[in-house]
Amino acid sequence: MGMGRYVKIKGSMGPKYICVHELSKETVYATVEKPYRDTFDPDERDTPPEWCPFLQKGEREGTWVCIIHATRPRFCRDFVCAVMRIYTREGAEAGRVSEKFSLISADERLNALWKERIDPLIAGNDPEWKAQAAEIIASEGYRLEVYD
Ligand code: SF4
Repeated sequence: MGMGRYVKIKGSMGPKYICVHELSKETVYATVEKPYRDTFDPDERDTPPEWCPFLQKGEREGTWVCIIHATRPRFCRDFVCAVMRIYTREGAEAGRVSEKFSLISADERLNALWKERIDPLIAGNDPEWKAQAAEIIASEGYRLEVYD
């Protein structure tokens, strides 16, 4: 629901859309799946602009689906739920924070930073830890995305 900032449609030909994922810098030729072809119009969608344009109401009431699921970007295929993602200055993923607030990273500097300065914030049960962690991590030159 926050991916509209990164999944951008650049053109189309019938049910095929040329799109760019601005985080992974990949170009994808995505095909809208059959049940959604007649109704999908990226210029007339009724979802918020911050949502990925391909996230649409499912056929079943109350569901949301990726209407290009079979041809979705690699970034989406590799996506694992996280409360925070951390990137290097160059844009490579340096780590992600699981829903249990643990860091998953192969970046030694980031692991050390997490252990020394972020873990104590979480252990102290500080509800503001995400904002404080973001500030600390950004001050070390990383870029973050923090999810609610
Ligand atoms: S999985 Fe589909 S709906 Fe979700 S961000 Fe990727 S392309 Fe968009």
